[in-house]
Amino acid sequence: MECRTQLMKTMPERLNKHTFFFPVFRDRMYPGWKVDLGYRALGLFGSRDAPLNYRRLPAKAAARQFGLVQLMDQSRLDSVGVFTEYQYNWAERICLDTVLDAEQCGATVRNYTKAVKLEPLPGRSWLVTLEDMREPGSTVQVRASILINAAGPWADQVNGQAVQNPRKRLVGIKGVNVMVKLPDECHGLGMETISSIGQPFYCMPWGKYHFFGPTEAVFDGNPEDVRVLPEEVEFILNEANKLFPSLALSREDVVYTWSGVRPRTASTGHEGVKSLTIHDMEGDGMPNALTLTGTPIMLHRHAGRAIARKVKQMLRPSQKEKPLSYEAKLFPENQNSPPIDYDFPGVKVADLRHAAAHEHVETLVDLLFRRVPLGWNIGMGLSSARHAAEAVADILDWDEERVTAEVSNYTHFVQENFNPSWPAPVQG
Ligand SMILES: Cc1cc2nc3c(=O)[nH]c(=O)nc-3n(C[C@H](O)[C@H](O)[C@H](O)COP(=O)(O)OP(=O)(O)OC[C@H]3O[C@@H](n4cnc5c(N)ncnc54)[C@H](O)[C@@H]3O)c2cc1C
Repeated sequence: MECRTQLMKTMPERLNKHTFFFPVFRDRMYPGWKVDLGYRALGLFGSRDAPLNYRRLPAKAAARQFGLVQLMDQSRLDSVGVFTEYQYNWAERICLDTVLDAEQCGATVRNYTKAVKLEPLPGRSWLVTLEDMREPGSTVQVRASILINAAGPWADQVNGQAVQNPRKRLVGIKGVNVMVKLPDECHGLGMETISSIGQPFYCMPWGKYHFFGPTEAVFDGNPEDVRVLPEEVEFILNEANKLFPSLALSREDVVYTWSGVRPRTASTGHEGVKSLTIHDMEGDGMPNALTLTGTPIMLHRHAGRAIARKVKQMLRPSQKEKPLSYEAKLFPENQNSPPIDYDFPGVKVADLRHAAAHEHVETLVDLLFRRVPLGWNIGMGLSSARHAAEAVADILDWDEERVTAEVSNYTHFVQENFNPSWPAPVQG
């Protein structure tokens, strides 16, 4: 609740406000009074800037008022908790805004750069070898007084570059989401509940569409190889149909799917714990090294502040503290610039050119998924990919051959990671 208040105050442009529901079914484990207790406790940590506005309505009254509730299984529905929820309008941009903030404060930002070797030096410092992924084999070395490993689900692998068999700090938890089109009266409305196997389960509004999920399953493979499996889609659709039987969702209704791996903190249990943890690696033979696990995006600022406090205890700052702006890094106003895709007028050609010039863009995937939100929208930017690549070609020094390669990589990325239900357009 504190993090959402801060985000609402500092970057409201990156958040969408929605009405959400927590259904109270007669046959489920949470009776109304427990739901009230939970949300009222949560509400105590809210603020006037981002209030929870929680109340509970009888099933019939809620169904009359809200389209999404109407579709819930009325034969089992007792009542509905109603509250205000805020959603990132897309996570990659929040990450980028934060990176640009760090750069303004003096950080050196190196996109597509991988730490490939960590060597402890006398005096508790580190020598880190970095490889430029755009030119495999090309490396540089940097000295560091402190090492912060924030490599998410790769964190254990990265520690393995410094010491043999480091203690396991994380458990990879795979998550899958499934995008569908619900009736128009569900627009802007969402739901959270507990699935039939006791895990959090959401129906999230996404423009004119909604996505259901996520799943939670231990994932031991390489996070880069994670892909959605048919049985995971089946599970999500079944759960959705238990809640909204009249929808009778099937595979034909799926617009696209995606998955990822969360870096949950390791514990004695097989599935780890949902706890943000900063591990001091001294006991593993890695002095002046910290490893972060267990951060959902919503807690990223809290995690950043906690790391900064730890670092302050370990190092004497060489300069005075510089304030972070925390603001969304918006594109300059460009009313006269045409949209790149007329179905999605919010993204202008001028925005792409600004991002290409100032925001560390290397690929078309960077541009359309991580600098502007075209990739995350229905159509996924496939029909305007070539137009977008050509619009920034002069800035990024892309010749005709590179433009074609970028468009082809983009199409492959979308097919591979989202498996959209419509065929990819032929790119001329
Ligand atoms: C389906 C799904 C839904 C989710 N929904 C939500 C949600 O609604 N709200 C929420 O708050 N969170 C959500 N999460 C969780 C959230 O995405 C993750 O917890 C979060 O991204 C973890 O952040 P991170 O920075 O620790 O790791 P990551 O975001 O995984 O970042 C780690 C980075 O380290 C880089 N890296 C790896 N190895 C190296 C190396 N050797 N050198 C340099 N860099 C390296 C990687 O390229 C990557 O960019 C969801 C996750 C999934 C999978």
